[in-house]
Amino acid sequence: MICSCIFSFTGCSLGGNWDKETEFVFKDVSVIDAVNGLRHEQIVIVKGNKIVEVGQAKEVKVPSGSTIINCKGKYLIPGLWDAHVHLTNTEALRPVMLTLFIVNGITYVRDTGATLNSILSLRKKAEEAAQTEGMAPRVFITGPHMDGLQLSWESSVSAVSVEQARFIIDCLTNAGVDELKVYDLISPEVCLGVLSTGRSKGFRVCSHIPLGMDVIEASNAGLSSMEHMYNLEMSCSSDWKSLLKARRKMIAEGSEKSGRELREYIYHAQRLHAFKTQDEARRDTVLKTLAENNTWQVPTLAITAQEEHRIFAREDWRRTFCYLPEPVRSDWEKAAIARTNQSPTEEGLAHAQWAYDMIPRLVEAGIGIMAGTDMPLALLTPGFSLHEELALLVRAGMTPLQAIEAATLRPAQYFRLENQQGSIAKGMMADLVLLDANPLEDITNTRKIHAVMRNGFLHTRNRLDEILTQLEN
Ligand SMILES: [Zn+2]
Repeated sequence: MICSCIFSFTGCSLGGNWDKETEFVFKDVSVIDAVNGLRHEQIVIVKGNKIVEVGQAKEVKVPSGSTIINCKGKYLIPGLWDAHVHLTNTEALRPVMLTLFIVNGITYVRDTGATLNSILSLRKKAEEAAQTEGMAPRVFITGPHMDGLQLSWESSVSAVSVEQARFIIDCLTNAGVDELKVYDLISPEVCLGVLSTGRSKGFRVCSHIPLGMDVIEASNAGLSSMEHMYNLEMSCSSDWKSLLKARRKMIAEGSEKSGRELREYIYHAQRLHAFKTQDEARRDTVLKTLAENNTWQVPTLAITAQEEHRIFAREDWRRTFCYLPEPVRSDWEKAAIARTNQSPTEEGLAHAQWAYDMIPRLVEAGIGIMAGTDMPLALLTPGFSLHEELALLVRAGMTPLQAIEAATLRPAQYFRLENQQGSIAKGMMADLVLLDANPLEDITNTRKIHAVMRNGFLHTRNRLDEILTQLEN
């Protein structure tokens, strides 16, 4: 009988009886992480919210009085990350967002742009829900992104001088953000100021590479991460110098446009040409620089390659909308139908092809990759979309273990937390996902979730299904 003990918890998240002495034993489990690969017949003991023992089944003594979970035929992976989310982007989604992550095995999220008050209050809510019932991921935040005079989003803030940027960084430091983010229209001078001030305070700085800069210049100045690989296509073009010059001109002449209009205008003016003029020697130089400077990538193929994979056109994908509250569910359904009826553009298809092609090149160059989605933008359902991203990374050329690494160990390393999370070892946080099938054989097996443990709380499949049923409409 597989996991007979788990079935005895039916209908209960064990939320009520957790304390720091509660012990769970994952017995006869196959453990997978990016540090040790696959280990069969393991015992993993969790006490409170920490892993206290991992070892060969025959060598580890099972403590008496512990709750034993018989895991023969099951696979245990570290809790997953969605390393690029916007939790507060759609107000109506906020009540279900955190739950949908846990149901999908996502125990950590990295919010890369939100108004400060909204994200601080959501982070607080997540901390409480994680503490009392293990029903929210740990939330890492950038707060608002620092942009130019023209703002792209409600979650942007203008930083038009180095002095102003320093003031913003002080505010964000006091608010307790985890990293900083610069955006498309910040000037090169101010961006460099953010990088030097941010780095001196111990922050990582992530980006949409400012459109007035080249990737190499930003990377050399200490940039930690590039989201969506934005601007990499322009930098790897044989015409990168003239493209950069033209972008600066468009920015100087674009004061009539809103930030959002201007950035979209610039991308549209340059991208297709850049995809068509990729230069091997220049690309090697750029990627070598990124690797040397430890500038990582969050490719977000779920959104960047969307015109090719057309997730919105899939019936099984649209079914995930039923977990979203109204009016989001019906709005998304209408939008999905409208997008399905549109033909993909040449630029969109070229973008997708370029993004897929870049993945194995990034791996080969030794550049850190984190798995993120940009949800809930572009009809990407919270939680479910991370599994799509993992499948896309594998489709583009990563091994399943590399994809799992991108959603576990890599983000942990990014935040210098690899001694607490990202792998399955003694002393790590008890944030775990138990799978019914081997994700190394088929990455889509990360969706076959048998149980999720968050902060030491065990949520069984039956419980997760109950939660989904309650959300369904
Ligand atoms: Zn984003």
